[in-house]
Amino acid sequence: MEDKTYLEVEQKLYRDLFRKLKDTGKIYNTKKIKQAFHRASVAHQGQKRVSGEPYIIHPVNVAYILINLGMDSACICVALLHDVVEDTEVTLEQIRGEFGSEIAMLVNGLTKLTNLPMSSKEEQRSENILKVLMAMIQDVRVILIKLADRLHNMRTLQFKAPDKQRITALETIEVYAPIANRLGIMTVKEELEDLSIRYLDPIACREIDEALSLKKNEQRTIIESIKARILERLRTYQIEPHIEGRVKSLYGIYSKVYKDGRSFDEVYDIYAVRIIVDTDIDCYNIFGVIHDMFTPIPGRFKDYISTPKPNSYQSLHTTVLGKEGIPFEVQIRTWDMHYMAEYGIAAHWKYKEGVHGKDKLEEQLSWARQLIEAQQDAGEDITHTIKTDLMPDDIYVFTPKGDVKCLPVGSTIVDFAYAIHSAVGNKMIGAKADGKIVSLEYKIKNGQKIEILTTKSISHGPNKEWLSIAKTSEARSKIRAWFKKERREENIVEGKIELEKELRKNYIHLDDEQRQQLIERLCKRYSRTENDLYAAIGYGGIVLAKIMPNIKEDYAKLIKENEIEIDKPELVTTKPKLTGDISVDGIEGCQVKMSQCCNPLPGDEIIGFITRGHGVSIHKKDCINVIHSMSDPEQAGRWIRVNWTSSVAKSYNCTLDIIAHNRDALFADISLILSGMRVPIYEINARQLKNGNAIVIVTIGIQGTEHLKNIIYRLSKINSVISVERTGK
Ligand code: MN
Repeated sequence: MEDKTYLEVEQKLYRDLFRKLKDTGKIYNTKKIKQAFHRASVAHQGQKRVSGEPYIIHPVNVAYILINLGMDSACICVALLHDVVEDTEVTLEQIRGEFGSEIAMLVNGLTKLTNLPMSSKEEQRSENILKVLMAMIQDVRVILIKLADRLHNMRTLQFKAPDKQRITALETIEVYAPIANRLGIMTVKEELEDLSIRYLDPIACREIDEALSLKKNEQRTIIESIKARILERLRTYQIEPHIEGRVKSLYGIYSKVYKDGRSFDEVYDIYAVRIIVDTDIDCYNIFGVIHDMFTPIPGRFKDYISTPKPNSYQSLHTTVLGKEGIPFEVQIRTWDMHYMAEYGIAAHWKYKEGVHGKDKLEEQLSWARQLIEAQQDAGEDITHTIKTDLMPDDIYVFTPKGDVKCLPVGSTIVDFAYAIHSAVGNKMIGAKADGKIVSLEYKIKNGQKIEILTTKSISHGPNKEWLSIAKTSEARSKIRAWFKKERREENIVEGKIELEKELRKNYIHLDDEQRQQLIERLCKRYSRTENDLYAAIGYGGIVLAKIMPNIKEDYAKLIKENEIEIDKPELVTTKPKLTGDISVDGIEGCQVKMSQCCNPLPGDEIIGFITRGHGVSIHKKDCINVIHSMSDPEQAGRWIRVNWTSSVAKSYNCTLDIIAHNRDALFADISLILSGMRVPIYEINARQLKNGNAIVIVTIGIQGTEHLKNIIYRLSKINSVISVERTGK
């Protein structure tokens, strides 16, 4: 029954997918897409989305989104296969074998890293974003598929638990929407933002919905009448443009009202009219006509045609007052600009059959390279950098020559100088904003003319404090690059001094040998040589305050290791455990641990040794270490009487060496006897001895010496077994 429904779902998806492909009129590698569909369908069979639907619906919908973006056959295949390696038994090698290395590479870029050792959820998330960015530099299609994947997950987020909804929505608005923005894919960016904000601030969104729905009819009439008037006027100039009216996106309104704190009526561009024409000249001509027809609001005109946004967006924007006194925004652009605005980097595939201008693409992705560098070189938090660096709000400033630079809101003089050129930043000694001297921390405002004052002195370079003044990772990476290159020797000396100071500040005192050990650990941790480590600390590539927790951890390990060496008699497990099985000098519940040198078991005669800081370690009375230690006057006083309590509840680990004439099924017979006695086996190994006999080493759980005796007796009765011995005796 279940299978029949699955088959129906599968067939319907299959038909829809191929109809959609056909409708585009483009040529696809249908054979490969078919193959990918079936592979995914088989692999995901039986898996369900949280919504209860068959899982295959998700990859197919991701494929739909990519078809709409105009992406190629490989992308469609990868969309179908993107969760196969992560969520099913299928391996990347199998995918490579069946679909080739291009598709395997893309799938790998999309497969999350799991089980990263010693990392929090936050760190895992950052590592995964980092992985996607790195894969994206290799092939930008990775991020396009990732965005489509996220978009479908956001469209179906209502099925997830509320806490998951928040985490996903937050990550979407902080990481994926800015990336979509930076790649110029406005359709995806806006939908991601609108979907996210509904989960992050549902009350505000309901307010906006209500306010908009009240005006719905009014809106439509206003937009229609404006469109009609513009068309009529333009016709007299023999221009037949395409005009569309729209209401600003939910998140667009939300940011203006709830983030910038404006009242609903103050939001100018709730209504927007978009005019699309054939040539640049028409854009400027129409712009003149619009300003003639309506009253422009001062300071609201932006020419993104002569100065495109960093994501290549081009258009003329102006806000004007309509007849009724209602302000609206007019966007004027050519068709080419329009496609770029809607599809951004995906337009390369939708309209140009893939990427041709490699250099241009490289340039468009340089931001990703800088993000990765900032994370790897200086441990900057990638999520935070994305939030600040790729923020959709930009400001435009002018050089004295009239060139325009676009920077994120909040950028300082340092950012501006490095945005012009590294050489300008490195030689900067001061700056003027609109003719007045300003400090380097000065936050640049939109439309200002900024002049950077430089020196000719060759030895001049940036100041390390600039690293904290700069807002963009571009400026920071350029500053770090200078320190890295120009000042290596000084950096090494400075780094050494800084580290020493920081250690003292944290009460970490080391002798020479310990210091060397600690440094070795740090070098390993950051995979650098000793001098590179100092140099990195010196130029700020490694920030001491940030790595101090790691240093402390290494220091603690070092101390612990040294301490164990002092307490010679015990080769003990490092994890002390509280146990109620032993009373120390008549007192129960003391912190004790079983020493590993003799591994005492209930029933054995035992004695305790008071360790430094790890409680009492328990040895067998006849343990060789005890005998040695007792004769040492310094340690003799630390031995103490201990006893097993009457009720021993736990199971103890015990290792046995079983020597036998080697034969088939020996291993099996041993396991059979043990499992027959319900003895848990924790580890079992076997190897051949030089004389041809076999040794089987097995670690089992036992209740006490009586229990053990019984086990040894049974094992020694096995055919061909020569001896059974408890180790550590
Ligand atoms: Mn997915």
